[in-house]
Amino acid sequence: MVRELTHFIGGKRTPGTSGLFADVYDPNTGTVQARVPLAGRAETEAAIADAEEAQRGWADWNPQRRARVLLKFLQLVEPERDSLARLLSAEHGKTVADAHGDLQRGLEVVEFAAGIPHLLKGEFTESAGTGIDVHSLRAPLGVVAGITPFNFPAMIPLWKAAPAIACGNSFVLKPSERDPSVPLRLAELFVEAGLPPGVLNVVNGGKEAVDTLLDDPRVQALGFVGSTPIAAHVYATAAARGKRAQCFGGAKNHMIVMPDADLDQAVDALVGAGYGSAGERCMAISVAVPVGEETADALVARLKERIAELRIGRSDDPDADFGPLVSRDALDRVRRYVDIGVTEGAELVVDGRDFTLPGHEGGFFAGASLFDRVSPRMRIYREEIFGPVLCVVRAADYEEALRLPSEHPYGNGVALFTRDGDTARDFTRRVNTGMVGINVPIPVPVAYHTFGGWKRSGFGDLNQHGPDSVRFYTRTKTVTSRWPSGVKEGASFTIPTMG
Ligand code: NAD
Repeated sequence: MVRELTHFIGGKRTPGTSGLFADVYDPNTGTVQARVPLAGRAETEAAIADAEEAQRGWADWNPQRRARVLLKFLQLVEPERDSLARLLSAEHGKTVADAHGDLQRGLEVVEFAAGIPHLLKGEFTESAGTGIDVHSLRAPLGVVAGITPFNFPAMIPLWKAAPAIACGNSFVLKPSERDPSVPLRLAELFVEAGLPPGVLNVVNGGKEAVDTLLDDPRVQALGFVGSTPIAAHVYATAAARGKRAQCFGGAKNHMIVMPDADLDQAVDALVGAGYGSAGERCMAISVAVPVGEETADALVARLKERIAELRIGRSDDPDADFGPLVSRDALDRVRRYVDIGVTEGAELVVDGRDFTLPGHEGGFFAGASLFDRVSPRMRIYREEIFGPVLCVVRAADYEEALRLPSEHPYGNGVALFTRDGDTARDFTRRVNTGMVGINVPIPVPVAYHTFGGWKRSGFGDLNQHGPDSVRFYTRTKTVTSRWPSGVKEGASFTIPTMG
């Protein structure tokens, strides 16, 4: 029985009216489990109009009252954690344990945003001039929108929606059409927690819904996370229309392994960060850079052993290390890239192309692949594969290893494994990427710091969550006031100075 999903507009589940649908698969079996409506222009505009109406009242709630809705939301999610994680895992294909993490990292940003009364405090200068005080306040933008990818269907919608609504905006979310059920349930829980209907609307859809969000003058700001070509397009279009935008794209994250690193720790880190979630993480490690031939030989030998022990299984198998990819297209793409790597002359140490899970021949499973002796000229090095494929690029020395991530067009995350503090410090200062891990393979910052890549991994000035999110979702108004003498001396024709 194929379920029919809806949008979530005005506080309730709203059936699609465009007549267009996309299939939502069970990646474990490759069968269709639901269909999701694809909003047309009229439906998206109706969601924006509803959000605009709701925002006026919501912005008048004092920040403490708004925060209470977030706190209540956190309480309501608690008993549903497992069912949400299972729902997420069933549409995405990541393991249930990993889906718990997806939800948890999103909830941490809701916790951060619940501090909004403190975060929104402005600045004040008393007696900037005789009888003159100056203060600045952070005003909400109005209607803002978020367009999110398939690979973190709980975390990324929450990273965007929670700070946006806490600041007094209304938020229109356009989640990925591949796994839309969790965002819908989260929106419903917000309303159950007391969020006025319309402050958080979910519009399912694809390009047409996104184009409408970009075109509509009522949408003041867009946050996007997804692949780089679309991130660049959304950023350029939003900017051309005078909208604020922060758009995060793809990645090719390197992990440098110095000769002094603890090799067991490095191998564990590489296997988890390279193959966890079948490599479908923007912070996955896809390039390992051992420094020196001896380190490289030892690392590749150990990786080979560890990969042979990996358990690939159904996403709801508690013993699985990773599950299937999200779609048939993703599986075909991964296999194609492994073919390309072979043609380009990289050494395929482990070949995951022919993996099948018995009884699940239609599922979107890819085995783990490992390439050695990859060169920076190869496409498998330059392009994002977004699957369980790890490339080893051997570096002769530290300087060469440092150059690789620094010169790569993507600049999301990078990790260095070493026991030497001086190397770590030098690397941190000089490497040209947005997020750095020292003996930490996936350096996703905590909620009260900010997340963002550099170069082709991020377009815009401000990062996600943390203090930047409050800056992104508000604009500063600066007020200069004089009481009580006013201007009774008469008009002044020179620019005011405080002298
Ligand atoms: P995607 O670019 O295919 O889709 C992202 C969103 O854009 C979805 O909501 C989708 O419906 C929409 N979209 C798709 N085609 C569009 C078009 N032509 N015009 C307008 N909107 C369109 O990305 P994905 O496959 O869902 O996610 C994987 C990608 O996201 C990877 O490249 C990954 O690295 C990246 N990602 C980046 C970060 C980060 O923080 N930098 C985080 C997670 C994922």
